[in-house]
Amino acid sequence: MQSIHNGQCGLCGHFGEKHARTPQLVTILSSKQADVVMLDECGHPKHAALHLKVTPISGCDGFVPAAQA
Ligand code: SF4
Repeated sequence: MQSIHNGQCGLCGHFGEKHARTPQLVTILSSKQADVVMLDECGHPKHAALHLKVTPISGCDGFVPAAQA
């Protein structure tokens, strides 16, 4: 497990936003820790058509803070 900080995909509202929020995503938001081998799809409009898969420690300038569960 690794600490996740603001600006990283694990805390971004676009991380896995195309599917229902899983317990794993909720846990990342509440603990700010994630398994770095996890992959999920980025739902940012500029990436969604490409089906970009990112890890919780990835990031980009499209970051928006995820709403807390
Ligand atoms: S790639 Fe950018 S927009 Fe997509 S989940 Fe990560 S920080 Fe958010």
